Amino acid sequence: MSESTAQFAGLAAVRGWQEELYRDLHAHPELSHQERATAAKAASRLDQSGFEVHRGVGGTGVVGILRRGDGPTVLLRADMDALPIKEATELPYASQVTATDDAGAEVSVAHACGHDLHVACLLGAADVLAAEESWQGTLVTVFQPAEETGDGARSMIDDGLSRLSPKPDVAFAQHVLPFPAGQVATRPGPVLSAADSMRVTLHGRGGHGSMPQATVDPVVLTALIVVRLQTVVSRETPPGETAVLTVGSIQAGTKSNVIPEDAVLQLNIRTYSEQTRTTMLDAVRRIVVAECQASGCPREPEFELFDRFPLTDNDATTTTRLAAAFAKYFGERAGALPQQTASEDFSDIPSTLGTPYSYWGIGGVDPTAYRRAVEAGRVAQDIAVNHSPNFAPVVQPTLDTGTQAMTVAALEWLRS
Ligand SMILES: [Zn+2]
Ligand SMILES: [Zn+2]
Repeated sequence: MSESTAQFAGLAAVRGWQEELYRDLHAHPELSHQERATAAKAASRLDQSGFEVHRGVGGTGVVGILRRGDGPTVLLRADMDALPIKEATELPYASQVTATDDAGAEVSVAHACGHDLHVACLLGAADVLAAEESWQGTLVTVFQPAEETGDGARSMIDDGLSRLSPKPDVAFAQHVLPFPAGQVATRPGPVLSAADSMRVTLHGRGGHGSMPQATVDPVVLTALIVVRLQTVVSRETPPGETAVLTVGSIQAGTKSNVIPEDAVLQLNIRTYSEQTRTTMLDAVRRIVVAECQASGCPREPEFELFDRFPLTDNDATTTTRLAAAFAKYFGERAGALPQQTASEDFSDIPSTLGTPYSYWGIGGVDPTAYRRAVEAGRVAQDIAVNHSPNFAPVVQPTLDTGTQAMTVAALEWLRS
């Protein structure tokens, strides 16, 4: 199949509603766990495409299933949530929305990560696949809440996602990223990092700033710990391996002449293998406990892990087959994806089900603007990345590409 003859019959009909749906989703973003209107739009569209629709799976999650007898089961996933960011794109369909976050604060909301695009693409692919008669098996489309908070995939699993369909033989997800629109990019093996945030509470002994001999100063202790933690990556992680440890927050004290009782550190760790992840988390605990002991703390420190994202480790066999299918369909527009330092919770679904998976990237940047930025050596300055208030994928060919990529991937397995 060459690129020119590769158009799916249903694609033209999809374009008729998909661009409008995308702009509507973009203008009406919803925070993690609050994706009620988005879920309703997805469910209603799946209904029109002839899918069996399950609503309210793991909160606002939606599952659409199309059963066509014996054959493989393919799971396609899109995330639905937006971010507490004030959009600065000046697009005619830019978000003006505000919402109440979990802490009760009124915040601006924007689709600054492109999940609106993922939803529109998967609904498009679902419709194209429903119109294609050349396959057999079961197609499962998953519209997931709360990716940004890292717990949406897990909540769908916990709410019985696996009981709705046969066990998937393969699972796919995609993300729009800051490279030229029209391109798709795959990578076998670890593609997105695992992420772990940790809150460490240190217990000193407070007292007057003029009498340090009567105290255990948690501020000095914190400073020593922060410096010592720099050796976790530089001295304990193999040089060829990518790992990041950042102390992003330190809180202690209220006044210049009061030595506080406690200090709280928050740190973030990114890794590309389970082994390195475990080694680093253990090293942090070991160093903190030992420094507390060295300072003579009256109580043991406390550790709390939060905002944890699993490693996204693309199955090599699946990804090689997928890359070949993309190369056949997209020609030179299919390429390789560099390893990303971002994190995702998609893999919680296939990992729990024991299903091989692949997660790929699609470009969302106007190709001309991207080429100009490259020529000027200004990609970092001029191309808005995900989570930027200026993040604005071009509608086409991004929607077409994401729709076709999902369709090509599903058919590669459903036609076998
Ligand atoms: Zn994001
Ligand atoms: Zn995202």
